[in-house]
Amino acid sequence: MLLREVEYARPGSIEEAVRLLGAHDGARALAGGQTLVNVMKARAASPEVLVDLADLAELRAIGRGADGSLELGAMVTYSELVGSPDVAAARPILAQVAATIADRQVQNRGTVGGNVCVNDPTNHLPPLFSVMGATFTILGPDGERTVSADDFFLGVYLTAVGEGDLLTRVTVPALAAGCGDAMEGITLGVHGTYLVSAAASVSPAGVRVAIGCVSGVPERATALEERLAGAELTPANVHAAVAGIGAALDPPSDVHAPADYRRRLAEVVCERAVLAAAERAKG
Ligand SMILES: Cc1cc2nc3c(=O)[nH]c(=O)nc-3n(C[C@H](O)[C@H](O)[C@H](O)COP(=O)(O)OP(=O)(O)OC[C@H]3O[C@@H](n4cnc5c(N)ncnc54)[C@H](O)[C@@H]3O)c2cc1C
Repeated sequence: MLLREVEYARPGSIEEAVRLLGAHDGARALAGGQTLVNVMKARAASPEVLVDLADLAELRAIGRGADGSLELGAMVTYSELVGSPDVAAARPILAQVAATIADRQVQNRGTVGGNVCVNDPTNHLPPLFSVMGATFTILGPDGERTVSADDFFLGVYLTAVGEGDLLTRVTVPALAAGCGDAMEGITLGVHGTYLVSAAASVSPAGVRVAIGCVSGVPERATALEERLAGAELTPANVHAAVAGIGAALDPPSDVHAPADYRRRLAEVVCERAVLAAAERAKG
């Protein structure tokens, strides 16, 4: 048998989904299933109840707030990010990055909510949301709360979404004039898993950089951000600023890359991401 026996529920409202998640120990939300079903097949997780979010139209919406911010329902897929005029207008980097995740099948099934709730360090969206100043709205038994990216990502496979909670949407500020975003990384093969990634967002207020794959959370490169504060983002300045930032990181060593190599890659991808974001900020 591929999967252990599991109860299955398909609620018709967000409120019912939260009630079901809170009513059963070991209940898990099922979004695109691109991670959850695989870990169930591998018996690394065996939830008692799967609460399928597929019928919750509200979670599939992409909209704009009164201030122009982008509101992404948790069940928005990567393909929907790629095809959305709202995403293209408000924060086009999201579509560009979503189009590089794995393959078309994963893009058609995988969701924004699943990507961030898993918080796999190699996932594309956590570092990106981190530099964009995204906020995460969570509905639980005690009501709704909104947390920042700094408070959302807590560790490998660990986020502010606790037992009985449902992530309902991610809100991203619209890209203002004079601002630019970029994401760069080294992958295992074309469209493969990241070995190290870096997202950067440049605005008149400064530079924000987050590195992926080097710890359990998107790692803000604060030393680099401070070195670049007020500096002209020329290739020479950015090259000088990234020098040595890898030494402060404590990345894992695995079959794909030793820690020292990841430290070096982190400097390379940070430099590329900042320069690409600065170029886009010029308009
Ligand atoms: C071959 C392959 C390659 C991949 N490569 C990449 C890659 O390079 N980069 C990348 O970023 N991703 C990659 N992925 C992972 C993919 O992006 C997954 O889609 C993602 O990690 C999980 O999203 P999902 O919608 O499938 O969530 P699911 O697998 O359904 O759920 C994942 C977890 O999140 C929880 N969850 C989901 N939605 C909610 C919610 N709204 N509220 C509360 N909890 C929720 C679930 O309970 C579960 O614990 C790959 C997947 C595959 C199969």
